[in-house]
Amino acid sequence: MICDSQRSSDSVFCDIPTETPTEWCVKNVRFDEPDYRGPFRLEGRHYIEEPLNCWADKSITDLSIVAGTQIGKSSVIMAGSAWSIICDPSRVMWVMPSIDNSRNFSKTRWMTLLRASKPIADIIPKGSGRHNFNLLQQMLGGAIIDFTGSNSPANLASFPCRRVYQDEMEKFSTKDTGEANASDLADQRTKNQPNPFRVKTSTPGVKEGLIWQALEKTDIRRYFVPCPFCQKKGVFAWGKKYTVFKITGNEFFVRWDSEAKRKDGTWDLDRVERSAAYICPHCQGRITDSYKTVMDRNGVWIPTKEAAHGFRGYHFPSMYASSVETMVGKMAVKFLQQTHSLSGAQGFINGDLAEPYLAQDTLHQRKEMVQQRIEISDTWKPMMTVDCQAGTPAFWFAKGVFRDDAAQIIEAGSCEQWEELRLIQLASEPKIPDVLVGVDSGYGARSEAEVYKNCVRFGELKDKSLTCQTSQGLVNRIGAPILFQGWIPCQSMPGRKLWKNGESGLSDPFTIRSIDPFLGTQEAGKVDMPLFQFAADFFEDILDNMRRGMAGFKFSVSDNVDKGILTHNLYPMTSHIAIASSEEFWQHMDGHFKAVIQNKFSGATRHGWVKRHSHWPDHILDCVRNMVALANFFGFFSITNTKRE
Ligand SMILES: [Zn+2]
Repeated sequence: MICDSQRSSDSVFCDIPTETPTEWCVKNVRFDEPDYRGPFRLEGRHYIEEPLNCWADKSITDLSIVAGTQIGKSSVIMAGSAWSIICDPSRVMWVMPSIDNSRNFSKTRWMTLLRASKPIADIIPKGSGRHNFNLLQQMLGGAIIDFTGSNSPANLASFPCRRVYQDEMEKFSTKDTGEANASDLADQRTKNQPNPFRVKTSTPGVKEGLIWQALEKTDIRRYFVPCPFCQKKGVFAWGKKYTVFKITGNEFFVRWDSEAKRKDGTWDLDRVERSAAYICPHCQGRITDSYKTVMDRNGVWIPTKEAAHGFRGYHFPSMYASSVETMVGKMAVKFLQQTHSLSGAQGFINGDLAEPYLAQDTLHQRKEMVQQRIEISDTWKPMMTVDCQAGTPAFWFAKGVFRDDAAQIIEAGSCEQWEELRLIQLASEPKIPDVLVGVDSGYGARSEAEVYKNCVRFGELKDKSLTCQTSQGLVNRIGAPILFQGWIPCQSMPGRKLWKNGESGLSDPFTIRSIDPFLGTQEAGKVDMPLFQFAADFFEDILDNMRRGMAGFKFSVSDNVDKGILTHNLYPMTSHIAIASSEEFWQHMDGHFKAVIQNKFSGATRHGWVKRHSHWPDHILDCVRNMVALANFFGFFSITNTKRE
């Protein structure tokens, strides 16, 4: 990719240091972070040496690093940048998912490194020049480092520069960048530059995502380490089912004592942790963590495919890191906990294995149960959710009961009037409290104002704060002059957005917003009402996992719903339309499938749930999904609980 005239321009750098970037960094770079203080070291992570040396290799134009957590991919970029400031200065644009990410990273990690590393600290501008050294821009000798966020298209498209780093690019913004995606905009800055150097790093998401697509353009190097017993080389890998790479017979796969599985199907996790090890495919040797340091030191990166000249790629699963969290037993426990939880193993596959998610953990048949209506005791929490439509029928509803290890849909149907919905609620046994009725107010066919007004009708006004127990055992309060406590308007938000929980600092897949149901009317300002917002795809995943029986969760449908016998005489009304047949119920429930969704402007991709086709009914499915979200919010079941049969 480099023409001869560019190559010959190298000769003007007559004082290019003879040491490699890694050698220079070992001598000169110091980290100064609360958890990581001291000189740049290679012990236990010789695997970063070759990627770091790419900074001085002018034949490489595009470097892609796909890495799991604990690998230290950011420290590779930090060290490479530090080297370049002194040894090969240029203008650099460093892109993170958002400006806030950049500011925080620069403040806590990057600036502390610059001040702690002597050759760089010596050239930090002082006096009147100190304004050239701030969080988002540092001018150091002949180098300029600019930080920006993928959510700032104007910054992304300004000045030219030779080096562009895209860090955690799988989380890049997909909004507001017009026709090009943030990643392309950033790369365009290197156009017409001699020796451009474009670095992309991230933990992966789906195969179609930006970072995996970038990696696939490269020679995809994997780190081959020698077996401590037979010295034959292989790569650390989890298992056949959990890799997108072709199996070559040179994989050190993980194995643990199969007798750690109890008769009831649960795992003895202590025994799993103690017995887990990598197995050499050549000599069947049992490779434990204590060998990792020496294996790392003698490892070698080997390309696994051919690529265009200038494209270099590295794949680093967390198994190579030598931290406590990446010990094989700890990882095995984490893996089992995630695969047996309702949230599934996507986090482990992306974050630890650094592999794209292909639903590796859900490739088994759904087991859906139709049962006699369950005996409802106090442990069951009854709920009802409503989907509003513009046409006829006006409303679809579902009623269900939840507890920590099971749920059953006990009724479903449709009707035409708000008053009928009220009667359907009141006719329930066990009684459904007003706050456990969720009414869809999102993207409404019916106006939000109408939904809010009717929620107020079927509840009561209270003058004290509403307290809710959430799945994390936390309490959300909504202070208000007069507070409404009744049917809850629900709004599903597309995707898997998480909201920061103010009190715990954790992220929740839902939030409560305080709204004024009478906004814009004479009654405005008198009542505060909670609006429940949640991540639709997140909870549709949870529902799907429940229906598959993951984590031992028992999801069932009462046989009267399945047979479609919701009769008119159950509710004293005329316009009620019962579910005509079980097929109708199951048609709704199967109304969505999981697909790769591409943003047509940004090109970014994600896995999401889409309608089978535009006329396929899915209203009961929406009701049930909303019920799952609300049940989780109220803490009726826990997503992370794995101690089930
Ligand atoms: Zn061996």
